[in-house]
Amino acid sequence: MKIVFKNALVVTMNETMDILKSCDVLVENDRIAAMGALSPEQMDKAKVIDATGKLLMPGLINGHNHAPMTLLRNFADDMNLQTWLFEHIFPAEDKFTGEDVYWATLLGIMEMLASGTTCFVDMYFFMDEMVKAVAESGIRAQLSRGVTCNDAGPDFSQDKKLNESIDFYKKWHGAADGRVMGAFAPHAIYTCSGNYIRAIRDAAEKYNAPIHVHVDETRVEHEDALKNYGKTPVKYLYDLGLFDLRTIAAHCVWVTPEDRLLLKEKGVSMVHNPSSNLKLASGVAPVAQALEEGLNVMLGTDGPSSNNNLNMFEEIHLAALIHKGSALDPLLVNAGEALRMATVNGARGIGREDLGVIRPGNKADLIMLDLEKPHFKPLHNPVSALAYSSQGADVCMTMVDGRILYDHGSFPTLDREKIFYQIDKACARIFS
Ligand SMILES: [Zn+2]
Repeated sequence: MKIVFKNALVVTMNETMDILKSCDVLVENDRIAAMGALSPEQMDKAKVIDATGKLLMPGLINGHNHAPMTLLRNFADDMNLQTWLFEHIFPAEDKFTGEDVYWATLLGIMEMLASGTTCFVDMYFFMDEMVKAVAESGIRAQLSRGVTCNDAGPDFSQDKKLNESIDFYKKWHGAADGRVMGAFAPHAIYTCSGNYIRAIRDAAEKYNAPIHVHVDETRVEHEDALKNYGKTPVKYLYDLGLFDLRTIAAHCVWVTPEDRLLLKEKGVSMVHNPSSNLKLASGVAPVAQALEEGLNVMLGTDGPSSNNNLNMFEEIHLAALIHKGSALDPLLVNAGEALRMATVNGARGIGREDLGVIRPGNKADLIMLDLEKPHFKPLHNPVSALAYSSQGADVCMTMVDGRILYDHGSFPTLDREKIFYQIDKACARIFS
């Protein structure tokens, strides 16, 4: 199977941020095979897509999500995190079935594909159903069973959620031609005891699996950690040994300069979630400083209940704006850095060097944007245009593993009407 994108404006996201005009890109099976001027042999038997007036770039990687929370979109808004989570979200989630999670994940995937996301990092529950949605849709994801447990322990060998995490990883890591990647996910320090986090960590280490965890999201979390443990959330998790494993730490809004040194020492990837942090009034993460210090900072939407969409272009836009405004410094987090967070840095965070950059040999996870729009004229600087002018709706094609999953409003692998119907049905029951 060969596909050629002909005459595209290619934003490679490589180390020198090369932008290639009138460039052809050859996709063979699941990989980018060649780019530049292609020979007749290379073009032979290829399906040609005319990319004139289109921009081709790597698919976006959403570094922190809870996709099935589409069911809770616009359901509990304008409140602080603790009230939102404990009084509204957790009680509603208790009514979810596996089938709800399946349809809600598909709805989230539909939204992500239509706005240029080709891979997402998620923690939730009913993992068999989430895997099914990812496998059927064709998208890529790092998934984990998010777990909570405040029991003191120390013996958790019979713990249901821990055993579900292990079973999930053993059963599904590497599934769907490697599109499903597994991880372990202790939810946060305020929902898990120290011994429980240690038990999850030990299980993850046994399977050589990565970690996905919420870290230092709110001032309450930060101050409670100082009060209860005499140390910051980052130092607490560092001392528990969690960061000895490859870790994605969502939020990190309240991390101190000393914390950032610890995160850097352990190669922990931070995930910036600007919409969610603003909406829940959690604060503005020290992203400019973290980037300056050489930390890997990814970008995420967080769940669609605290955002309230899964549009990564909105996060790129915000990431390039809020640090300037809050620090009164227009030099902070430039357009290229914001785009890197959503592509290359995302790939690094999930340990995938073959994603996030358009270059021969990499996976063909690509998106195409329609430049024939008023807000792209004139196109002085494509990188600036992507960060400051573009919208998710500019995406006209999304490809994962060489397969087109979104094409000018249609979803070849998804049944849009059926998904909408099942979402309405699930909501009628959950919120009755
Ligand atoms: Zn989250």
